[in-house]
Amino acid sequence: MINHLITQKNWQSQLSEAITSVDELFALLNIDPAAHNFYVPKHFRLRVPKAFVSKMRVGDLNDPLLKQVLPDAKEGVAVTGFVSDPLGEEGQNPIDGLLHKYESRVLLTLTGACAIHCRYCFRQHFDYQTNLPTIQKQTAILEYIQANPEINEVILSGGDPLSLSNRRLFDWLGKLEALPQLTTIRLHTRLPIVIPDRLDQPLIERLSQSRCQIVMVIHCNHPNEIDEATKLALKRTQAAGVTLLNQAVLLKGINDSVEIQSSLSKHLFSSNVLPYYLHLLDKVAGAAHFDIDERQACELYWQLLAKLPGYLMPKLVKELPNRPFKVPVDIYKYGEALQYNSKSVLV
Ligand code: SF4
Repeated sequence: MINHLITQKNWQSQLSEAITSVDELFALLNIDPAAHNFYVPKHFRLRVPKAFVSKMRVGDLNDPLLKQVLPDAKEGVAVTGFVSDPLGEEGQNPIDGLLHKYESRVLLTLTGACAIHCRYCFRQHFDYQTNLPTIQKQTAILEYIQANPEINEVILSGGDPLSLSNRRLFDWLGKLEALPQLTTIRLHTRLPIVIPDRLDQPLIERLSQSRCQIVMVIHCNHPNEIDEATKLALKRTQAAGVTLLNQAVLLKGINDSVEIQSSLSKHLFSSNVLPYYLHLLDKVAGAAHFDIDERQACELYWQLLAKLPGYLMPKLVKELPNRPFKVPVDIYKYGEALQYNSKSVLV
């Protein structure tokens, strides 16, 4: 781990100083660039904040955090079934910046910006330029929500909604809270993991004052992503009344073992975060090398059931185009072939 990378700088400075050069990243990690065959697609370049790099192991090309952000030559290989819009989202936005896939919830892509570029991201080809809710479109979005009274929850997504300034974020929060039909505002964000300082005092205070229930769904894939600074920031946020959940993606060679998944759930819980979803990979072009066979995922899940109490078990799900919900993976489909300690299941 590289402790000297952890600075006292505010989160905006950390965001703007994120590493965008493979050479710089390898120099920090003391890795020979000749050891890796990389390819950087123009539409989705390397981007990783130093606070996240500080959690990687020096000199280890196989570090599970490094592998999530390091562009790989395999991304340039076309694989059948892996497409640019795996969830068919492009047909589900009645207004630019608003996706309406689920009956009672809408998702706002508030920004195309992310602090980090995860190589498996299903939105890496998404056309953010035409889908950003500009100030002009904000009125149309609020009117759309009012015209659909069954909507009671708004999900702020992106990109990463916490890459917006507090000023812009608070403006959205205020306008949404003014709609009486809304009970819940949810934020989907990876920023607390990659720059824990993003959970600054003004943000935590503002969230604690909301008249709506605030749910923050963080995105953490590996226990090494949770260091002391991350844990403290998360605990402060939860203590302010924010419900904290985690969604992870099951990634080949990164977190596809029972030990790592079990450790991830325990690390999350010790940070006052409950595991929520464990996603099968969305089949996005360029990410096939992270994919895990559904049968292997089920085997892993059964073993995890035998290890963890129910409240630490994330739901194993996949997203399919044109389904108004995340689809639970049928873990009984391969049941007869699985080995697990049945005495421990469902404790
Ligand atoms: S933070 Fe989320 S939206 Fe951004 S690149 Fe990673 S997975 Fe995609």
